[in-house]
Amino acid sequence: MSDVDRVKCACSDCVCVIAPEKAVEQNGRLYCGDACARGHGSGSGCGHAGCDCKG
Ligand SMILES: [Zn+2]
Ligand SMILES: [Zn+2]
Ligand SMILES: [Zn+2]
Repeated sequence: MSDVDRVKCACSDCVCVIAPEKAVEQNGRLYCGDACARGHGSGSGCGHAGCDCKG
């Protein structure tokens, strides 16, 4: 396993770090998932363990 470039989700409350190729891109920023990419408009968190970002 080599070190992949990981980026932190662009959601400010989110603590998730994701691999760029698996990230959801929105407006040039990388997010860990759809919930973060949409700014938590639906009120749901990203669903990742240990993270309770809700925008
Ligand atoms: Zn998160
Ligand atoms: Zn996120
Ligand atoms: Zn988020």
